[in-house]
Amino acid sequence: MQRTENKATVRVSEIFTSIEGEGIFVGKKTLFVRFSGCHLKCKWCDTKYALPLDSGTEYQIDEIKDLIVRELQPFTYKVNFTGGEPLLQSDALIELADFIKKQTNLKTYIESSCFDSELFSKVLPYIDICKIEFKTADSEIVENEEYDNLLLNEIRCLELAVKSNKTTYIKIVVTNSTDLESFKNLVYNISKKIKPSNIIGFIIQPSHGVDQPTVNKLLDTYDIVQPMFPEVRIIPQLHKEIGAR
Ligand code: SF4
Repeated sequence: MQRTENKATVRVSEIFTSIEGEGIFVGKKTLFVRFSGCHLKCKWCDTKYALPLDSGTEYQIDEIKDLIVRELQPFTYKVNFTGGEPLLQSDALIELADFIKKQTNLKTYIESSCFDSELFSKVLPYIDICKIEFKTADSEIVENEEYDNLLLNEIRCLELAVKSNKTTYIKIVVTNSTDLESFKNLVYNISKKIKPSNIIGFIIQPSHGVDQPTVNKLLDTYDIVQPMFPEVRIIPQLHKEIGAR
């Protein structure tokens, strides 16, 4: 691999190879690049160590490129840019995703809360697979008055990904406290913006360890989604079950 020198920096929590534990690509060998920093407060967040903006280590972009090259294993399918919230360091994200696309044949994959559709649109040309995560109104991850703005941005990111013909799927985390009316409104709002054929799947992910939903609760959410998005699936986090990172 060849590259030119770059002086910019990025804060990264960790880089490691593991098994994709969530969503449509569950089971695929994946290199994870976890960016530091996220301003949201999901109660089910399982990477709280990566939430502070000053957590992890500050690297030169070139150092991270070297780490990626060193960490890459044969038969890896994709590189996940995750967090934390990777959009908070969008310039570095673009630099690294561009590097992967130019230097390897791996897919680039973004896991984001989609809180800012403008930043998302800048990153999108360098991304192959988009996991668009929606939060229900009762999830309390932002103040009530900020929820509408978050939802607007999530929907805009979804539309941008679909319009750009990216491989796109939707994920919603469900807890036992998830309000079904709120959940139904959310799915209905999404269904007004895209067609089922625009996405490769709709994942309901049970929260793990925090307010875990019962099977009946999960089936209730499945029954809400299925008439609007027939490809809905309930998929728990595999990596938690098999002791992978
Ligand atoms: S958006 Fe993701 S990283 Fe941020 S708090 Fe929620 S689960 Fe954690």
